Amino acid sequence: MDFDEYRKRGKEMVDYIADYLENIRSRRVFPNVSPGYMNDLVPESAPLDGEKYEDIFKDVERVIMPGITHWQSPYMHAYFPALNSFPSLLGDMLADAIGCLGFTWASSPACTELETIVMDWLGKMIGLPKEFLHSNEQTMGGGAIQTTASESTFVALLAARSEAIRRYQILDEDDLNGAEINARLVAYCSEQAHSSVEKAGLIGLVKLRLLPCDDDLSLRGETLRDAIKRDRELGLVPFFLCATLGTTGACAFDKINELGPICEEEDIWMHIDAAYAGTAFVCPEFRGYMEGVEYAHSFAFNPSKWMMVHFDCTALWVKNSGALHRTFNVNPLYLRHENTGAAIDYMHWQIPLSKRFRSLKLWFVLRSFGVKGIQAHVRRGVELAKKFENLILSDPLFEIPAKRILGLVCIRIKGENELTEALLKRLNSSGKLHAVPASFKGKYVIRFTVTSQYTTEKDIERDFKIIKETARKIIAVESS
Ligand code: PLP
Repeated sequence: MDFDEYRKRGKEMVDYIADYLENIRSRRVFPNVSPGYMNDLVPESAPLDGEKYEDIFKDVERVIMPGITHWQSPYMHAYFPALNSFPSLLGDMLADAIGCLGFTWASSPACTELETIVMDWLGKMIGLPKEFLHSNEQTMGGGAIQTTASESTFVALLAARSEAIRRYQILDEDDLNGAEINARLVAYCSEQAHSSVEKAGLIGLVKLRLLPCDDDLSLRGETLRDAIKRDRELGLVPFFLCATLGTTGACAFDKINELGPICEEEDIWMHIDAAYAGTAFVCPEFRGYMEGVEYAHSFAFNPSKWMMVHFDCTALWVKNSGALHRTFNVNPLYLRHENTGAAIDYMHWQIPLSKRFRSLKLWFVLRSFGVKGIQAHVRRGVELAKKFENLILSDPLFEIPAKRILGLVCIRIKGENELTEALLKRLNSSGKLHAVPASFKGKYVIRFTVTSQYTTEKDIERDFKIIKETARKIIAVESS
């Protein structure tokens, strides 16, 4: 493909994308394919000779689209949102074309500098304490874009682990080595925390306790205090808590204003996983959920969920970047440069060496929407979730077993779990809307998240109608 053809094909692709997104309602949101469907549609080996672009492009509709779950569809209610937006797509198109790797400042100065600037912008937008900002000269705080919330939790756990081992070695009279201390470490999260916390414990080789929640599915201070006491009696070393603001199951919030002071007393690193809910903190009225954030050592959320910055983009801040440096620091000659030590080298803030120019799409989004535009987007999503909640509550067939928070409504048919399971199965196989389940306190629920920025009141009414009619059919079959 030469320059002229790229220009032509690029314009065609932009048109295709605009058509795709504009007409996305006409596609079934959840695909109707079986595992291996694609094997019958493509050859067994790569072509020996290059193919014509037209032929490749034609196969997008023939091969790819039948197997797509359309995450940008207003009928997508599964998981949490993973939104894109035109400014984000365009910013990333440029980042991909520049194709720089920002592992050190010198490897592409603009990549590092824009990232530090937008991380400060974003931190201020969500009301993070100034200790988390690069611009605060009193601390070594700052933010870095990571790939995912999972990776951010793991990075925080690794930093907490190396700090705990270092601290222990200074005080230790038994002269234990790092591996022996590691075997005594214990971390905590709530039983509602995302599975990525469990995974971080698994691969970080530390014990992780999943602590019980209260009736609102929040982790409380007393529960943590009791667990720490028990573990200390066993000779273990509590070192890390991952608190969640906006759990995956029901968007519950751990009480960080109770947990934080305990972590401070006990020398425990408190990481906050606000993967979905973090975007809502752009609106001051939702910041009550963050009360106690000043106790956190690290905080992460995903602009790639609700903020319309497409995947991947997770914002991770720490108060003390020295802990990351001590954890991830390697310094081979080929990565050194004239400003080593004076400028930020993001390779010390993350697990991989290389870093994409992800701040560019974030910058495009923050500037295009402005704080007000993002606030309006969040508030609209919450209003639509409230509308859906009210429709559900108006029908005696359904119940909402966990309080609706932000854009997530958990619904079920009153009665046996099997009814709700059957409802979800039917809804998903219809392809008309897509949702996933969760379970708490023995109750199976359907999670209904308002995702798309294009969702209208009419879409919500349509979805409710489909859910209501499908539920009635299930009840009719059950009682016949
Ligand atoms: N934490 C929470 C609370 C989540 O809801 C999710 C996913 O939805 C994750 C972590 C994992 O996110 P990621 O895919 O960015 O690792």
